[in-house]
Amino acid sequence: MARFIFVTGGVVSSLGKGLLSASLGALLQARGFKVRIRKFDPYLNVDPGTMSPYQHGEVYVTDDGAESDLDLGHYERFTGVSARQSDNVTTGRIYRDIIARERRGDYLGATVQVIPHVTNAIKEFAIADTDDVDFVICEIGGTVGDIESLPFVEAIRQLRNDLGRPNGVFVHTTLVPWIAAAGELKTKPTQHSVRELTSLGIQPDVLLCRVDRQLPDSDRAKIALFCNVAKSAVIPALDARSIYDVPLQYHAEGLDDEVLKAFGIDDAPEPDLARWHDIMDRLDNHEGEVTIGVVGKYVGLPDAYKSLNEALVHGGLANRAKVNIRWLDAELFEHEDANLAAELEPLHGILVPGGFGERGSEGKIASVKFARERNVPFFGICLGMQMACIEGARNLAGIAEASTTEFGDTPEPVVGLITEWMSEEGLQQRRAGGELGGTMRLGAYPARLAGNSRVASIYQTTEISERHRHRYEVNVHYRDALEKGGLLFSGMSPDGQLPEIVERTDHDWFVGVQFHPELKSRPFNPHPLFAGFIKAALDKSRLV
Ligand code: GLN
Repeated sequence: MARFIFVTGGVVSSLGKGLLSASLGALLQARGFKVRIRKFDPYLNVDPGTMSPYQHGEVYVTDDGAESDLDLGHYERFTGVSARQSDNVTTGRIYRDIIARERRGDYLGATVQVIPHVTNAIKEFAIADTDDVDFVICEIGGTVGDIESLPFVEAIRQLRNDLGRPNGVFVHTTLVPWIAAAGELKTKPTQHSVRELTSLGIQPDVLLCRVDRQLPDSDRAKIALFCNVAKSAVIPALDARSIYDVPLQYHAEGLDDEVLKAFGIDDAPEPDLARWHDIMDRLDNHEGEVTIGVVGKYVGLPDAYKSLNEALVHGGLANRAKVNIRWLDAELFEHEDANLAAELEPLHGILVPGGFGERGSEGKIASVKFARERNVPFFGICLGMQMACIEGARNLAGIAEASTTEFGDTPEPVVGLITEWMSEEGLQQRRAGGELGGTMRLGAYPARLAGNSRVASIYQTTEISERHRHRYEVNVHYRDALEKGGLLFSGMSPDGQLPEIVERTDHDWFVGVQFHPELKSRPFNPHPLFAGFIKAALDKSRLV
């Protein structure tokens, strides 16, 4: 049976519980254990799929088609374990399922209540499908004390009892702020937060204290005394220079040792951290530097492009290059006095990422044109590929009115709403004006690559599987026209109906993909397309 680690947060949000969970998972894995990491989100949306990136950051998509919290991206990047539909749940989904059961009459006349029905559903979710792992890390979103997270805190309290006390450990994250006027670090918020947690029946075993400077021994002792934990289990967590240093840093502070100790495990092998040392070595000792411009819409909030940001860093790791990312607001390129060339000329690569809606689209199309004409390495992802096809149609195939039906009716739907496609579960059908939640082409789909294409040599194979999240597709009826314009359809769905990849044959590196390769990139296994794109950018940087 798996052992459970429950991660909660106190004092304030944004303390990095996601990175803590991911790093702890990586450390246990480095000791030879099998891990699975899960996220419980207390909000009422069924999933984050319909939320604005400004609300919630990126929506992370799993192989099995879940639209999930971006922390699942951290979990995958740190452990390499593919997350599943069953690794993220929200209050909204729990209630939706309970209400559906109630309507069916499954509760046989009982009054349906938060305890036990909601808490039972949370517990069932936590333990489902965990027989094949040694440790399950369950991260509870939000901050202890929030009204909406109460049922989750209650559920994990019960679950530790159900599992038997030695099989569950509580890790609580807090903040130890520096008060400048007093010239002191303050432990009181941590004490209050642990008191709040104990009042809910949970005594933490390990405390991870976020702090912006060395935590003096006396403060560590004080926290241990007031919070009823061993002094060695008060782990100081200083800001890291890179997120990939966090596992090494937390290990040096004793995190994984303390967690194992709390389980009574004293014979675990030492972790093999070679892959993390290698990543840090590549980051610290780079041999080149590139600047990549990302021309997008949500550029004010880097979390909106979390996986993209990381995949670009991974592309740098693969080439021992430092990657500087310049986030450029596509909309600004639409103004009459915009100086597109001044912004784009200094770049070694241009990337147009995924996105929704018309705003900024002409700026994206103009950036594609610039990259194409100036032979700047170009990478278009999802909406970015669609924009590349529209640019090619308008400027090389003479289809002046080329557009996408996403932006309204058009006589030349080079990109159009897709209403039917094949998935592993069979024929999928949608209709215009249908529900928005969970209805896109989602999750992993296979694609076939043309044998003589650039992408086949990048992937070193002609059969790939990548993750999707979109409602519109490049219209295969325009294939001939676009190919005559130099845009080769080098990747297609197995039935030949859905264009998956386009590339230019007359350009150093120009690739558009309908899927999201950034979701599958790992620091220790960079995605080949990102490695290839950064390599092309590096070559360009060395030319000038
Ligand atoms: N809005 C586009 C679509 O739905 C692209 C989506 C995306 O970039 N993820 O097809």
